[in-house]
Amino acid sequence: MPKVTQLSVNGRRGKRPLAGTKRLLRWLASRTYSCTPLATIGRTVANRYAWQSPASHAAFPLRRRPLPVCQIFLYHRINDEGDPFLGGLPVKTFAAQMEYVARNFPLLTLDQVSREEFPGGHSYYIAVTFDDGYRDNFTCATPILQRFGIPATVFLATGFIDSGELPWYDQVRLAFKSSSQSYLSLRELGGPEGRLGDLPSRLWLLERTLTWLRAQPRSECLQAIDELFRKLGVSSQLQLSNQMLGWHEIRQMSKSNIVFGAHTVNHPALSQISDAELMQELGGSKRTIEDRLQLPVSHFAYPFGQSSDFTAKVKKSVPEAGFKTAVTTIRGLNDRSTDRFELRRFTPWESDWALFRMQLDWFRFQYQDVTEKERNQSEHSRETSVVES
Ligand SMILES: [Zn+2]
Repeated sequence: MPKVTQLSVNGRRGKRPLAGTKRLLRWLASRTYSCTPLATIGRTVANRYAWQSPASHAAFPLRRRPLPVCQIFLYHRINDEGDPFLGGLPVKTFAAQMEYVARNFPLLTLDQVSREEFPGGHSYYIAVTFDDGYRDNFTCATPILQRFGIPATVFLATGFIDSGELPWYDQVRLAFKSSSQSYLSLRELGGPEGRLGDLPSRLWLLERTLTWLRAQPRSECLQAIDELFRKLGVSSQLQLSNQMLGWHEIRQMSKSNIVFGAHTVNHPALSQISDAELMQELGGSKRTIEDRLQLPVSHFAYPFGQSSDFTAKVKKSVPEAGFKTAVTTIRGLNDRSTDRFELRRFTPWESDWALFRMQLDWFRFQYQDVTEKERNQSEHSRETSVVES
């Protein structure tokens, strides 16, 4: 599901100058960082070392990473439409990000990640993925990936390929965009309510509605969408043409360095469907891509991808359906100890090139994996118990 361009929902006057000052300080900090030798030093340090928080009680604030890590980027739409409802990273921004990573970091395929293959003895690697199967991945992103020789994996929700239909969450986005209502209440269904009068309020309520919908059992979610459309006063058949990839485009992409993974058939939250539906969503999407491309499909992406969107049973079913890896949308880095069926990803959201570079270095420098946090906590409790005894 694409992340909508971040807009401030805080309309209070007192907050605006502070937000403006903060933005200016971040801008200045990012220029100071990215336009000076600090960037080279920061990149090198962040590649090899991780920062240890005071909570870890470590003697030295830097810790050399014992294992190489891979950061998996997650993209959705790449286009210049600037639609705040459907989202999308501008093409120029995507090109600048890809040029920067291709020049400065080794890139991996998900096959290499699944084989725990980290060639060249580096400490830090990047892999690039796209979710859902938007057509602009072919028209806008593929030429850029080819220009910089970057491998990528595109996860397809196969029910929308060549169907002329938008995924259900994009239909909901379109409904919020098209509605002329000024207020929406889904209280009688247990859902959110709020104003639709201005853009920030409308986007805020849209995100709350999507979060609520995906937490409903599948049949109730579909019924709620019908009721939502009725309340918004829009047609239940909202469509936009040429939004999703077609098989002829997918075949062309697969001839370059792009691999296709499965992302279910209908893009439901897998925690909210029956066992029979789960098998159909996993196996159906895998078989369709394999039949169409005559290539094996080894990688899977959980729809929505947060830990509440897939259960332990879902996770167990993924290798049973024949997949070698599964990616989430949980933020983090991956090393050889990371569960192959719960790989973490990272959405590069900064459209400013200097902020992107600083954000990328800072993220891996300060990021502590759950297992590291647990180890720090257990080391701390061991120290504490020794002192106490
Ligand atoms: Zn998705």
